[in-house]
Amino acid sequence: MTGKKIVVLGGGFGGVAAARAARSLLDTEHTVTVIDRDRVPRLCGMNPLLIVGERDVRKTGRSLGQLANRGIKFVEAEIASIDTADRTVTTSNGTFDYDYLVVGLGASYDWDAVPGSELAYSFYNLETARRLRRRLSRFKRGRVVISVAAPPYKCPPAPFETAMMINWYFRKQGISRESEIVVTIPEPAPMGVAGPAASQKLRDDLDRRGIELRTGAGVTAVNVEAMEAEYSNGSTIAADVIVTVPVHRVPQVVADSGLTDGKPWTPVNNDTLETSISDVFAIGDVNVVPFGDGMAVPKAGVFAAGQGENVAQTIVSRITGSEPPLPYDGSGNCYLAYSATQSALIGGQFLAEGGPDVSLKPPSAAGMRNKERFERDWRKFRI
Ligand SMILES: Cc1cc2nc3c(=O)[nH]c(=O)nc-3n(C[C@H](O)[C@H](O)[C@H](O)COP(=O)(O)OP(=O)(O)OC[C@H]3O[C@@H](n4cnc5c(N)ncnc54)[C@H](O)[C@@H]3O)c2cc1C
Repeated sequence: MTGKKIVVLGGGFGGVAAARAARSLLDTEHTVTVIDRDRVPRLCGMNPLLIVGERDVRKTGRSLGQLANRGIKFVEAEIASIDTADRTVTTSNGTFDYDYLVVGLGASYDWDAVPGSELAYSFYNLETARRLRRRLSRFKRGRVVISVAAPPYKCPPAPFETAMMINWYFRKQGISRESEIVVTIPEPAPMGVAGPAASQKLRDDLDRRGIELRTGAGVTAVNVEAMEAEYSNGSTIAADVIVTVPVHRVPQVVADSGLTDGKPWTPVNNDTLETSISDVFAIGDVNVVPFGDGMAVPKAGVFAAGQGENVAQTIVSRITGSEPPLPYDGSGNCYLAYSATQSALIGGQFLAEGGPDVSLKPPSAAGMRNKERFERDWRKFRI
């Protein structure tokens, strides 16, 4: 058997999990290469705590250079094009040919889709989270509004977790009576993908903390001078701090490759996560894994990592002739912090036979310890 080349595009949650799993299952005659523009990706899951000073900015990243210790080659480069006919990937640092390609390029943010939002606040990357942290540190009174533009967006619990953390922070600072927190979402209910019971429970938890929830309207524009946000139903909200969750899009290089077939996200076989092109797989935020009535497996790191491992096993089975893995089942759990010391757990199996089997477990100190362990494991490449 001649050595095969496995090329993984993107060193995020999904790409690293795919590369680690493939490397650990294959002989060294086969090569595993990860290509990413960013040598030090950040764990966005820390941002809701980071904005209230509960995470250290210096501990939010991990260097992909360390993959070399595991026998995985890392190339720091901008991916310019993917040619599935030629089986090559062109980058700012050379052209790479592959036998198996794993596309884990995540989602990109379209700030222009909501005019003014770039001048407002966000927490969807490290830069915006740091800016929001500085603003909140001098906040004394007034209204904070957190507004989602449009689904799908990364980590469906994140806007609510962020509201909970700001609420906790205002109580800690003794300014909760002088402040108000409003969350607005385009969907009819919070975290609808997790089912009606979890959604209602979250509604109740927000309500108990005095966090106002408005549903059914996405933010469409932000007027920073007037300090006002505009919504798809024609309403407006004036606020002292306007925080938006940007519109997410498939990265342009993936759309240009033809892998999306003109659709918003990369369609895949739900069982194998293979695209319409043989031996080319798409994992994590870049794909869409639909189920039920118009729903899809959430865009979250835990799912991207699970998909990466599943795809690696499929590739290994094709190379070695071993048994392929069980079909991808959409399993995963996310943490949803309610304070600096308490975290809830949301998750289960989204592709379970008979419909999603998902629940929201109450916040606890053990939940926060598990969340912290998850963060440590990520930094040490255990995830
Ligand atoms: C505020 C917030 C909180 C979150 N909390 C959680 C949480 O608690 N738990 C959880 O599981 N998930 C959470 N998520 C979601 C999670 O971060 C993403 O779903 C996850 O990172 C997706 O993994 P991925 O591998 O698909 O893509 P990514 O991790 O985004 O990786 C994609 C990689 O591709 C690279 N790339 C893209 N285009 C190019 C190009 N042209 N050339 C070179 N490189 C390129 C990028 O640099 C990036 O490193 C959160 C997200 C946010 C924003």
